[in-house]
Amino acid sequence: MRMLMMGPQGVGKGTQAKMLAARCAIPHISTGDVFRANVSAGTELGKQIESLINAGELVPDALTDRIVADRLAQPDCANGWILDGYPRTIEQVRALDAVLEQSDQRIDVVLELRADYDELIKRIHERAQIEGRADDNPEAVAKRLQTYDKETAPLLDIYRDRGFVVAVDSEDVIEDTQASIVKHLQQCGLPGVKI
Ligand code: AMP
Repeated sequence: MRMLMMGPQGVGKGTQAKMLAARCAIPHISTGDVFRANVSAGTELGKQIESLINAGELVPDALTDRIVADRLAQPDCANGWILDGYPRTIEQVRALDAVLEQSDQRIDVVLELRADYDELIKRIHERAQIEGRADDNPEAVAKRLQTYDKETAPLLDIYRDRGFVVAVDSEDVIEDTQASIVKHLQQCGLPGVKI
């Protein structure tokens, strides 16, 4: 199963995607995790993107697209994957389309997670205290939510037009949201969705 996990910062994409990926025995690929790992390891890429990430800005498309294309070409992606946090711009949608077309693959489903703005802010604040992410400061959070609304949320219309968005409310506790995701996916009737 090839899935995109979409939704604003703090909605629980990473948590839910990890659980779902384990359940389906497919890799969970988070561009945010890849970038953070590079920053922590002090790689060339990490040095290039650190200030952008900390300010809540997007990493340039070309760089991000290359990382995702390389990752999807790895053998463990042959039976499916969950992409979390990508695509975030219209250019990234086009780049992903091109990569998938070249390898004769298709997106089976786009899972949209939803929660109220106040709930997102509360969760990001809690995460900041637990994980200490450099980009969970108030300015970067505001910037990231604004960029999501402006650049990323409209991408859902593209996928809705293609007919494979499943929207799930993510305001419950983690396990209940996961159960709701599984139920929605089981009932969606989309070909290629195996859960
Ligand atoms: P996330 O963990 O998904 O919230 O991502 C953390 C940060 O990594 C974002 O605020 C961006 O700076 C960068 N990032 C992650 N995914 C992307 C992407 N698809 N395009 C551009 N930048 C990204």
